[in-house]
Amino acid sequence: MTEKFIPEHIDPLRYAEQSLRLDGLIKLSDMHRLSTSLSKTDDMVTVSLQFGLDEQGKPYIKGHLQTILTLQCQRCMGPFSYEIIADFVLGIVNTLEEAKALPELYEPAMTKEGSLALRELVEDEIILNLPIIPKHEPEDCSVNIPTIESGWEQGKRENPFQVLESLKRKSDK
Ligand SMILES: [Zn+2]
Repeated sequence: MTEKFIPEHIDPLRYAEQSLRLDGLIKLSDMHRLSTSLSKTDDMVTVSLQFGLDEQGKPYIKGHLQTILTLQCQRCMGPFSYEIIADFVLGIVNTLEEAKALPELYEPAMTKEGSLALRELVEDEIILNLPIIPKHEPEDCSVNIPTIESGWEQGKRENPFQVLESLKRKSDK
C-alpha cells in the first residue's frame, strides 16, 4: 500500500464546490506545536476530510481523525499511549466577520489569501483533544499515588469548594 499524505495547503472553495474528499496521513513530526508535548513523534495521524456546500451555499469540511500519541505521564514522567479519535465540522471563512456569522454547528476554518492550511487545522483539532494533565491510569503507572493526593482528588470531585474552604480556614487563623 502506498502512503498518501494530506497536502499542506489547498484551495478550499474549489474542493467544496466539487465536493472533493481527501483521505490520507499527516506525520506528527510535521506538527510543530503539538510535537513539543509528545515523547515520540514518528507516528502518523489518519485523516478523512469531506468538502461540500451546505443548503445555504456555505462551504464546509466534515473531518475525521485518528491517531495514537505517545505522551509523557505527569506523575511518573514515563511515556504512555493515548488514542484520539475525533470528528469535527468546520465552516470555511475568509474573515473574522464571516467566522462570527457562522451557524453554531460549525467551528471556523480561516483561509489565508484563499488557501487553507490543512495540517495546521488537523493539529488544532488534536490539541483540543489532548488531556489537560496527561497521566497513566493508576494501575499502569509506576508511581504509587500517595494517599493524600488521592484523597485530595476525591475531595475535589465531590466538593470543588473544599479547597477554597481550607484556604479560608487558614486565613482565618
Ligand atoms: Zn505514569
